[in-house]
Amino acid sequence: MKKPELLIPAGNLEKLRTALLYGADAVYVGVEGLSLRAGSSEMSMADLATGVKDAHAKSAKVYAAANTFTRNADLKQAKIIIPELAATGVDAVIVSEPGMMKLLRTLASNLPIHLSTQANTTNIESVRFWQEQDVKRIVLARELTLKEIGEIAAAVPDMELEIFIHGAMCMSYSGRCYLSAFRNRRSANEGDCSQPCRWEYKLCESTRPNDPFLLEEDDRYSYLLSSKDLCLIEHLPAVLASGATSFKIEGRMKSSYYVAVVTRTYRQALDALIQQKGHYKFQPEWMDELTKVSNRGYTTGFAFAEEKINETNPDIKYIQTHEPVGIVLQYDSAKKRMLVAVRNHLTAGDDVELLLPDDTIKIDTRMMADAKGNTLREANNDNQIYLPLEKEAPVGAILRQKVK
Ligand code: SF4
Repeated sequence: MKKPELLIPAGNLEKLRTALLYGADAVYVGVEGLSLRAGSSEMSMADLATGVKDAHAKSAKVYAAANTFTRNADLKQAKIIIPELAATGVDAVIVSEPGMMKLLRTLASNLPIHLSTQANTTNIESVRFWQEQDVKRIVLARELTLKEIGEIAAAVPDMELEIFIHGAMCMSYSGRCYLSAFRNRRSANEGDCSQPCRWEYKLCESTRPNDPFLLEEDDRYSYLLSSKDLCLIEHLPAVLASGATSFKIEGRMKSSYYVAVVTRTYRQALDALIQQKGHYKFQPEWMDELTKVSNRGYTTGFAFAEEKINETNPDIKYIQTHEPVGIVLQYDSAKKRMLVAVRNHLTAGDDVELLLPDDTIKIDTRMMADAKGNTLREANNDNQIYLPLEKEAPVGAILRQKVK
């Protein structure tokens, strides 16, 4: 059984390291200057170079997203950035349009090209076309069923196929949407969608502005815009059988905590699938873990149903049972304690768990202390505290607790 690649989003260097710690085979990142606007989910060239070194040291790969729709005015900057990008040692560049592809071929001819999902590749002939253009991998449109993906893999076996297996879904076709750019000037096509399709909307008749009608779902009507999130963890044997080579998680703007939990959970499930083969059984605790991170209810999206429209979520709010409370900065094996940077707020006695790559450990927060050894009753965001721990914790491991 061929081992698929587990591909994780990394919005910054911390998230890249989190993804590597919890078992990513590869990460994809936005790069400052190539998305042609500064954004919270982009890395500087220096961070990218560091991230590539970290990833390669663990035999993992880094793919840089340059999948904006480039305008004439952007080409000059792209010509400067592409050689710098090649010098970082990234393993491939993700593009969506032929202009950027042509620049890459001219300025960095050795860099493999991956075609973004925004190119909407949906059939065998399209895949063959892009293969002739020297594309090494195609991120297929999210709207395809596993059956269609299987047909493409069988017809073009030497093309690498990447598919989404988890994360937010779009109500528009493969992210070709202008809603976010309209609402708050954050363009989905530049990797910076603020997801306004998830916001609450009211319908107003112009002569009665004070009498809005809330758009929501009940037994008969659909909440029009808010899709549930994709989750295929229960169907990994079918996903693997499709012949896709890379299994991608969506969410460059998600937190390190999200990256940790989703990476670890899919790592465990995929390893079990590869090792146990015919004896593989889905473990309900995997799904349980995935409900502990931000989600809008889960759906299998288009994976099994022809012509299926995204399932929407009647609940306007994100669902999340747990939240991060800290990240490990250091482990002192002599004193059997870890130094933790607090995220959010922590009170002595809080029920906290430490997420190790292959284990979850309860932490006694009644013993939290400052650098001088003084016991603390509470700690706030960015405080550094010590917590006792017998077993070694890796730097970057995440601590969480139930949402209060
Ligand atoms: S606003 Fe919604 S539908 Fe549009 S790109 Fe963003 S997530 Fe997709």
